[in-house]
Amino acid sequence: MEFLDKNIDLAPEHIRKHLVPTYGGDVVYECIACGETFAIDQFLYTCPTCGSLLRLENRAFDELKQIDGKTWQEIFDYRKLLNIEPLKGIFLFKELLFPTVPLQDIIYLGEGHTAIVKSNPELSSLVGMEFYVKNDGFNPSASFKDRGMASAISFINYSIKKRGLSEVLGICASTGDTSAAAALYLSYLDKSIVRSVVLLPKGKVTPQQLSQPLGSGATVIEIPGVFDDCMRVVEELAEKYQVCLLNSKNPVRIMGQKSYAYEIAQQCDYDTGDLVVVVPVGNAGNVTAIMEGFLDLYRLNIVQELPLILAVQSKHANPVAAWNATGRYEPMKVQSSVAQAAMIGDPVSFPKVRKLVKEHFKDRFLTVDLNEQEIIEGMLQANRYGHVVCTQGGESIAGLARAVRDGIVDKNKRVVVDSTSHQLKFSNFQDMYFRNAFPPEYEIQAQDAFVNAPVQLDASATSIAQYLSLKEK
Ligand SMILES: *Cc1c(COP(=O)(O)O)cnc(C)c1O
Ligand SMILES: [Zn+2]
Repeated sequence: MEFLDKNIDLAPEHIRKHLVPTYGGDVVYECIACGETFAIDQFLYTCPTCGSLLRLENRAFDELKQIDGKTWQEIFDYRKLLNIEPLKGIFLFKELLFPTVPLQDIIYLGEGHTAIVKSNPELSSLVGMEFYVKNDGFNPSASFKDRGMASAISFINYSIKKRGLSEVLGICASTGDTSAAAALYLSYLDKSIVRSVVLLPKGKVTPQQLSQPLGSGATVIEIPGVFDDCMRVVEELAEKYQVCLLNSKNPVRIMGQKSYAYEIAQQCDYDTGDLVVVVPVGNAGNVTAIMEGFLDLYRLNIVQELPLILAVQSKHANPVAAWNATGRYEPMKVQSSVAQAAMIGDPVSFPKVRKLVKEHFKDRFLTVDLNEQEIIEGMLQANRYGHVVCTQGGESIAGLARAVRDGIVDKNKRVVVDSTSHQLKFSNFQDMYFRNAFPPEYEIQAQDAFVNAPVQLDASATSIAQYLSLKEK
């Protein structure tokens, strides 16, 4: 298949030859502890030698330095003019994402390039500063997980062809959104080869999140316990049986999620000086990917500075914030949280976070932890001012407000807040608030100012006009 596009001619001469990527790189799995590398002609999730986490390393990354940072900016910007489908999503940044996967094997379902929206002025003053919300709820399954799933499923699609696989069983544990994304993307592949299975903690995902993998036709298995229990089970399955693990422990997921950082850079015209990125942290895959993504751009001179990362957690699931505050990491038993997608006590990617912070981000990695009342009201308040954030997006915004109050984030910075999914996925928590019906462990008391409910009136203009105190014309 050839990828040609008449719009190539719209780019300046020196950019044209780079617009359709041909670079294949030299990608291998690399153990983050012992450094050993392994070929990508297999599905691996942990180091076969020492058992630690793997990352994908492009051993030919330095070849990309032959093109200067400014030219890379132009390549990514002009590439947006093309109507070549596999470059429309996260693979706009293909050389940095997964160069090995050929264009014709990329599965594109409309993910990536999510809008950033300036905070409403009244909301800005309540939070203490202006900021931008990057709405990753605008992805096809309505969360950022689609970024990582697009790269993981493209890699599976490539592997099926390249290795002639006749059977693939994609499986994941989930707090709701990973399974929605995995089921969606897997269902796009050949059903005679690919099966899709998701493990959910019973009663710990929202009704919308449960309906998504069911609708995509996945086998949905509910087990008792919380996410950490589901994760243990799929880890054992991945160790002993031939399955393809689609959790962010799979480094191909992290690869795709780096696109979030690339997009922010592009949306800020590659000026990352004074930039703060606010991220809710659960299993710590997202924050890992964002740091790795900015690091790629920094190494290629595409940006001149690494941003500050403000990682936000609930006090009910705050192992990363506790580590950053005390220097000691301890897995914890989580308690109920409205930021349910981030309700994880032993984040799988924590060792990657620790390494990235130690080696690169240092004091550019900040954390805050919040109580449940702050998180839910962060969401309700933002949505009353024209935004569409989920509870985790609310967590990010409330986290920013806290950081401004505590003097951790300077008001003159430029801030992008990650709303990781769509408001509608978590409307059950809004509903619980409106009914002031939270179980005691959440420690949430509804305040009248945020409550809303439908009003029952007769089907009569007069009674509605009366209720609204309308003036006659
Ligand atoms: C998965 C998820 C998170 C947490 O991201 P991690 O990569 O697990 O840290 C936050 N918000 C939403 C909506 C999610 O689906
Ligand atoms: Zn190892």
